[in-house]
Amino acid sequence: MNDKCISFSLDNNAFRGRIVRLDHVLNDIFAPRRYPQNVEAAMSETTALGIMLASLMKYDGYFTLQMQGDGPISVLVTDVTSEGVVRTAAKFDEKKMATAQELRKTEDELEATPHWLGKGNLIFTIDQGKNTELYQGIVDLKGKNLAECAMRYFKQSEQIDTYLRLFVRPNGNTWQAAGILIQKMPANGGKESDSSENAEELWNEAKILTDSLKESEIFDSSLPLEDILYRLYHEHKVAVVKESEYHFGCRCSREKLFATLSNMKPEDIDALAENGKITATCNFCGQTYTFDKSELLKH
Ligand SMILES: [Zn+2]
Repeated sequence: MNDKCISFSLDNNAFRGRIVRLDHVLNDIFAPRRYPQNVEAAMSETTALGIMLASLMKYDGYFTLQMQGDGPISVLVTDVTSEGVVRTAAKFDEKKMATAQELRKTEDELEATPHWLGKGNLIFTIDQGKNTELYQGIVDLKGKNLAECAMRYFKQSEQIDTYLRLFVRPNGNTWQAAGILIQKMPANGGKESDSSENAEELWNEAKILTDSLKESEIFDSSLPLEDILYRLYHEHKVAVVKESEYHFGCRCSREKLFATLSNMKPEDIDALAENGKITATCNFCGQTYTFDKSELLKH
């Protein structure tokens, strides 16, 4: 119930939007493995963003949002299948992370995901399986927060005006994350999406209203997302288009991991082996797989 994303429209389809609030998905992501606080905050935020972005795309397969940088967190990745199955992982350097935490000047930087990633990029991928073309978009990681980086992606790669906000906070032993996004409809979509003065005015108003959403409201579980939308945009003909639910799940398998490992050079396989066995753990779900070195070297 708590992990859902609502698609909505404003001003007779001149703009479209998404609102997402996550709870259980994050519990499940962190169940197999815990990370330093700032890594978990960044992973939670990335998951909320990934779901909102995935729900904007038309695809049958999976959508991946990946960020990579030269900072203490080197990789943040979340993928969302067209059925609403989500998983998130991160790679980080424990030493660099500890140093960066000590150097942190303001509490704000706790939430500033790009700060932890450093210089790098943000990549969108849509994979619809064999015999289909991989769609990929990439932009430099620039912006004081993750929301700004994503807005920059839309401006540069898709030329679509997009405004979005992300929320993340610790909740007991786990995390809560949420987000809201509005976007001008692509050129020949909505009737009012031309650059007329009126459309510009409506867009600016919608952005101001989006900015007025408070963290305490979006995380208030007694407040349905529909009610939040109505509170914010009742003067902008807000209409709910679709509601989608999300849950945690992993696509890893013994076969996939076997294929990856058996493609490695024999000397690398040797280096990984202990007592003739190689043990590998999935970064997403914590599942452990064990292979015989000899079975991998046969390929
Ligand atoms: Zn897995």
